[in-house]
Amino acid sequence: MPIYEYECRECDHPFELLVLGATTAACPACEATDVEKLVSLSSSSSDSSRRRNISLARKYGGKDEIEKAHAEHDARHKHSH
Ligand SMILES: [Zn+2]
Repeated sequence: MPIYEYECRECDHPFELLVLGATTAACPACEATDVEKLVSLSSSSSDSSRRRNISLARKYGGKDEIEKAHAEHDARHKHSH
């Protein structure tokens, strides 16, 4: 889904918006439609404003990987005995 990041030109409030069809971006803080579209969340992962999302993804992804590794280890261990 196309989630875009915007910054309000009126109050400098940054926000993210899921854009569906002809959705007009409006600032959730002051309702101004004079907003600047920033890069898409799906096409960039290095912006500092997105560090929190990335760290959450890493946290959960890492947990999954660790659990998967444990499961695989257990399976191998049981097989070897
Ligand atoms: Zn605003």
